[in-house]
Amino acid sequence: MARPSNFPPPFSARDYVTEPTDPADERIEVGVLVVGAGPAGLACAIRLGQLLEEHPEMAERLGEVPVAVLEKGKQPGSHLLSGAVVDPRALRRLFGERFRMEDLPSYGPVPGESVYVLTRRAALPIPPPPPMRNHGNWIFSLSQLGRFLAERAEEAGAMILPETAAQKLLVSHGRVLGVRTGDKGRSREGGELGNFEAGSDLMAKVTVLAEGTQGHLTGVALDRFGLRGDEPQVWELAVKEVWKVAKPLDRVIHTMGWPLRTNKRYREFGGSFIYPLGDDMVTIGLVVGLDYRDASLSVHDLLQELKTHPKIRKILAGGERLEWGAKTIPSGGFHSLPRELHAPGLLLCGDGVGMVNVPRLKGVHYAIESGRLAAEAAFRALQRGETPASSLSSYDDAVRDSFIWSDLYEVRNMRQVFGRGFFVGGALASAMTMSKGKVELGKMRAEPDADQPLLVTDRAASYPKPDGKLTFDKLSSVFASGNKTRDDQPNHIRIERRVPREVAQLWEHMCPAQVYEIGREDEDGTVMVDLAPSNCVQCGAITAKGGRLTPPEGGSGPEYSAT
Ligand SMILES: Cc1cc2nc3c(=O)[nH]c(=O)nc-3n(C[C@H](O)[C@H](O)[C@H](O)COP(=O)(O)OP(=O)(O)OC[C@H]3O[C@@H](n4cnc5c(N)ncnc54)[C@H](O)[C@@H]3O)c2cc1C
Ligand code: SF4
Repeated sequence: MARPSNFPPPFSARDYVTEPTDPADERIEVGVLVVGAGPAGLACAIRLGQLLEEHPEMAERLGEVPVAVLEKGKQPGSHLLSGAVVDPRALRRLFGERFRMEDLPSYGPVPGESVYVLTRRAALPIPPPPPMRNHGNWIFSLSQLGRFLAERAEEAGAMILPETAAQKLLVSHGRVLGVRTGDKGRSREGGELGNFEAGSDLMAKVTVLAEGTQGHLTGVALDRFGLRGDEPQVWELAVKEVWKVAKPLDRVIHTMGWPLRTNKRYREFGGSFIYPLGDDMVTIGLVVGLDYRDASLSVHDLLQELKTHPKIRKILAGGERLEWGAKTIPSGGFHSLPRELHAPGLLLCGDGVGMVNVPRLKGVHYAIESGRLAAEAAFRALQRGETPASSLSSYDDAVRDSFIWSDLYEVRNMRQVFGRGFFVGGALASAMTMSKGKVELGKMRAEPDADQPLLVTDRAASYPKPDGKLTFDKLSSVFASGNKTRDDQPNHIRIERRVPREVAQLWEHMCPAQVYEIGREDEDGTVMVDLAPSNCVQCGAITAKGGRLTPPEGGSGPEYSAT
């Protein structure tokens, strides 16, 4: 049986590590450089701003730009996509007296909740298991929260550079010195167009990578500095839509079961979420573990199928789809965390290093908390006037002392147990939850998602036909993401182009944005995979399943506004 990992992409982390190349007087110097304007990166910039306000002499020492934040999306928030029911702990710590939860752009506290086990026609309500209890949490659109946090970061003195992708890690004598940004205005073949702009070397005393899931330079740094954890990281793929609805939804809903299959052979793990966004909108999403084995599984199409369930159809009745998007979620948990979260001159935060509590479907508060702790560690090191490896190690200590560590430890095998099938996995997960993680299952091994041997079924035949009202095809979904990737830029997706048909089928069905198409078949039975990279919404699934996503030209990709 074919495995995607047998066909590795033409990609080497070494190609993305370089010494600075710009002449010394053309390099851009900043104090702390944050890569990624997500909750982790923006919390880091905000906290640094607070500290520098209290210590103006330090701001002075850090030069003209004490804090800079790079964001590859058109603006902060453009690439942010989440549920998002947020545990308010980290936001409260970050803002203290400055803002109350009521002052943030939320849709209010969770009003109530239901959990259902679905079959094709029925919905069996069950008492919410502890991880799905959301009393006291708040509902947000992460892309809106991101824009709010970016404004606060700018007020606190950070310079935000949107439409700028960090392409390469600048390393000299074993120390991270900053990043090189990507070129703009190259043709498909790599030539310089009329509007060509070369990337720049951005030099920093401390670089904080807060790139979120499948972070490009985070992956490069984990390899360069040998930081990978004992267990491989694994991911889920989530596809979601935002709907305008006729009737308000009065609670958050989670579902398990259909349209996923419970048979262990398929390794299908996941569930859906439906959250109210005020009185006239809801967000609905389906999350599926990428260790699934059926090459004909498409999370995009399973979400379309889910919406045809009588229970869910009723919620959306008379409504209209406003937005669509997709993103991966790291789900390996505690055992997949890197061995260390720092290297000389470098700190790593948030989803990039897998700080997600999968049974709770929560990572925003860990991202914010880790960003805040990274800011404090960077500040401490800079105050002492040094950034050698050991001076940033206080960040690791702070994370280990925080709720990020204790929470993730409590659910440490939660994702791995579902490799044993839905029912056995469910029983083990319940035992872990009831005992608050005291049940010792030992360290359960996870296999990389791309190592799963593939099988092919006729699952795709039963996906609903798109009607353009309730159910949609992939291309109209890409349109609803606001994707603005230039058609003629260089291909940013690395895959082995000639593969067995099952692997090509896997990529074709998996990609929610219709980037891959099966082309010509050769005499040896392998097929050519054709690519439409400009459809890509940068969800990251291809990196989990045997290829590698690299950042396209800054400003490309989706334009999320309500996700
Ligand atoms: C569908 C879905 C539902 C979820 N539901 C919830 C929920 O209800 N509650 C919850 O708490 N969590 C939820 N999560 C998880 C949560 O969204 C993440 O844990 C959180 O967003 C992580 O924050 P981050 O800052 O680490 O990364 P991100 O939010 O991914 O932000 C990273 C930012 O960095 C930018 N970036 C990345 N690489 C580069 C680069 N090389 N150069 C420049 N910019 C770069 C990206 O464009 C992005 O803006 C959900 C996730 C998904 C996908
Ligand atoms: S091509 Fe882009 S959208 Fe498609 S799976 Fe890969 S990262 Fe996701």
